[in-house]
Amino acid sequence: MSRVFNFSAGPAALPESVLRQAADEMLEWNGAGCGVMEMSHRGAAFTSIVEAAEQDLRDLLAVPKDYRVLFLQGGATQQFAQIPMNLLDGGKASYVVTGAWSRKAVKEAERMASAIGGRIELAVSTEAHGFRRFAAADEISLRGDEAYLHVCTNETIHGIECFDFPALAAHGVPVVADMSSHILSRPFDLRDFGLIYAGAQKNIGPSGLTVVIVRESLLGRAWAGIPQMLDYKVMADNGSMLNTPPTYGIYIAGLVFRWLKEQGGLAAMEARNKAKASALYDFIDGNDFYRNEIDPASRSRMNVPFRLREDSLDKAFLADAEAAGLAQLKGHKSVGGMRASIYNAMPLEGVQALMQYMDDFARRHG
Ligand code: PMP
Repeated sequence: MSRVFNFSAGPAALPESVLRQAADEMLEWNGAGCGVMEMSHRGAAFTSIVEAAEQDLRDLLAVPKDYRVLFLQGGATQQFAQIPMNLLDGGKASYVVTGAWSRKAVKEAERMASAIGGRIELAVSTEAHGFRRFAAADEISLRGDEAYLHVCTNETIHGIECFDFPALAAHGVPVVADMSSHILSRPFDLRDFGLIYAGAQKNIGPSGLTVVIVRESLLGRAWAGIPQMLDYKVMADNGSMLNTPPTYGIYIAGLVFRWLKEQGGLAAMEARNKAKASALYDFIDGNDFYRNEIDPASRSRMNVPFRLREDSLDKAFLADAEAAGLAQLKGHKSVGGMRASIYNAMPLEGVQALMQYMDDFARRHG
């Protein structure tokens, strides 16, 4: 077996020890007589799995008691519609656009608002500046009667991260955040948010599972025509099990949460993620063959886009990288260039191997 260093933006690398444990438990989980995929979601064995997963996630994120943890389906993309369906309540919501994902979120919210009533406003868009930084605090001005303020706190494609959550909360309206590509990468105060959500396939587990954490007081204001499956309150009242949940995804997520605790929790992950990202950005800044054009204060610790001196070398760079065991470095097609996604499961050695390779490639082609 030869596992590569996998820089995929998602579905992304998982901790090897998690995959090994899942392999060990594939045929039989903990004396249950069957594997996790084969057990009833309402039986004692799976109930213990989902309860432990939720508790570990609550411990990691220090989730306050009045916040509900939901294990849903449909990906972060479904949340783009589900959020206005649940929270708009005929009023208006404000959106911050700082990259491709928040732009998609606002488009879907506009579609929903025109169907169910309510209004979507643009708080600010940084698109005219080429999506090179997160929005500055003073660029967002709200009236205070908005149902919520939506942000994407890590733009996976553009490599832009928000580091000042209290500034978002200071507007005094519930902040709703797409944290798909950096949830669990560092500690933060959940009280700064009314709702956070994340597709699982980067820092949590397999795709098909979506985690939503929502303040209880925001439940119960859904659009009257909302499908039951999409109503946060219905899902919260039913322990995320109105129907059969994505059981295997929840199980793997639970193993990842346990692994994160063993690593020392989110403060330890933050230290490691900082070390990995600053090594890579320092390398890129110090080598004229490569460049990253994101404002240093907004550079994502999870997704590091970069370009070579000449785009014509991209193909050779990717082919040689694959041959060196460094996989999935191609940037998103909408922006081109390269992107190294270095989520929690990417070890420092992977980043070091990448920098070594980049250095060699630059010497050969510089
Ligand atoms: N938001 C962000 C920040 C993402 O990175 C992604 C996926 N790359 C999505 C939303 C969409 O997620 P999903 O595929 O789970 O719908």
